[in-house]
Amino acid sequence: MSRSEELFARAQQTIPGGVNSPVRAFRAVGGTPRFIAAADGAWITDADGRRYVDYVGSWGPMILGHQHPQVLAEIRRQLETGISYGAPTEAEIEMAELLSRRLPSLEMVRMCNSGTEATMSALRLARGATGRDYILKFEGCYHGHGDALLVKAGSGLLTFGVPTSPGVPADLAKYTLTAQYNDLGSVEALFQAHAGQIAGVIVEPVAGNMNCVPPAPGFLQGLRDLCDRDGALLIFDEVMTGFRVGPTGAAGLYGVRPDLLTLGKIIGGGLPVGAFGGRRDVMQKLAPVGPVYQAGTLSGNPLAMAAGLATLRLLDDAALYARLEAATAKLLAGLKQAADAAGIPFLTTQVGSMFGLYFTAATDIRTFKDVMASDAERFKRFFHAMLDRGVYLAPSAYEAGFVSSMHGEAEIEATLLAAREAFALAR
Ligand code: PMP
Repeated sequence: MSRSEELFARAQQTIPGGVNSPVRAFRAVGGTPRFIAAADGAWITDADGRRYVDYVGSWGPMILGHQHPQVLAEIRRQLETGISYGAPTEAEIEMAELLSRRLPSLEMVRMCNSGTEATMSALRLARGATGRDYILKFEGCYHGHGDALLVKAGSGLLTFGVPTSPGVPADLAKYTLTAQYNDLGSVEALFQAHAGQIAGVIVEPVAGNMNCVPPAPGFLQGLRDLCDRDGALLIFDEVMTGFRVGPTGAAGLYGVRPDLLTLGKIIGGGLPVGAFGGRRDVMQKLAPVGPVYQAGTLSGNPLAMAAGLATLRLLDDAALYARLEAATAKLLAGLKQAADAAGIPFLTTQVGSMFGLYFTAATDIRTFKDVMASDAERFKRFFHAMLDRGVYLAPSAYEAGFVSSMHGEAEIEATLLAAREAFALAR
């Protein structure tokens, strides 16, 4: 029995499913999750001492690789000074100023502790600010596990939303409308059916929770126009894309300004963090200046601010983003070549250092339906063949992958060497 197998059996005695977040349990791919003992640069080491090139990067935050010396130094410095005060600090102002300088739509910012909190709070604020109850989201987009967001479309386009999890009241779910990503017609139809009632449209500007699906040309601007026409707020959930797809996030990359924007992952440098912000007039509706309540004991935590600020300062570097993008392109070109050589239909998507892998003969991926048409069984075989050869991909066919600044020639070569064998085995 491997150490990971032992730990997994033990974990299941006291932790539901043995994990603190479901996708870690490897349910989508089968087998035993690797329990991680350490990480360094582009590599993670499991409890059995096996090393893997890591394309998960803690699901996005580790864009500078694991254990970056400057990030560690800032955490250590803060550790000596104080861990948590529950009172305001200068570091929080620095964080808000930095975020608002780099992401111009953030006129004001509020820190919280996770992406879930960020989207949940942004939706409450959108509802409070507009006095409207409905929100509109997209099938296949994930915004954390807030009640209003664990909802899918009922049967028929114009019916009410239904909960995707027990515990979410149907009475609440009915206020969540679901449209199709990259399909403005489906959004327009919902706006027609609920004119003047939709508080906000929330979208992952690059969808990263149904593999990786870039926005079709004009899609994000179309959302902006539909929101403006109806008086709804446009909310970009950039928890994943913020500082990942480029130095100004997806809003900057595609040139569309949202009313509210949510962040997480990278801005905490690996420590638990979330944030939301946007238009000054809307953000001024938040407590304590306004009536919309939102709070957090550990919000703006000094250690998280130290790790986040160190990370964001290192990311103020256009050349670094260019290198990340080039490394990702090289990886994907190599994977495509290896798949072709093995005669396996395969397609990749890329936005900056975020990527998607699809086992499909399709030439383009635009919709949730396109994603679902890819071969998840073949992905499973490929995933395990890669894992056996020391490459750690996200354990699901529906997650995006991430490259860090520590993924160099050696890591990419090791990945492609593994892939040439893995594609053959996945046939
Ligand atoms: N929004 C997006 C776009 C995400 O990808 C995630 C998490 N993967 C969340 C929100 C939720 O963030 P958290 O897991 O930190 O609550």
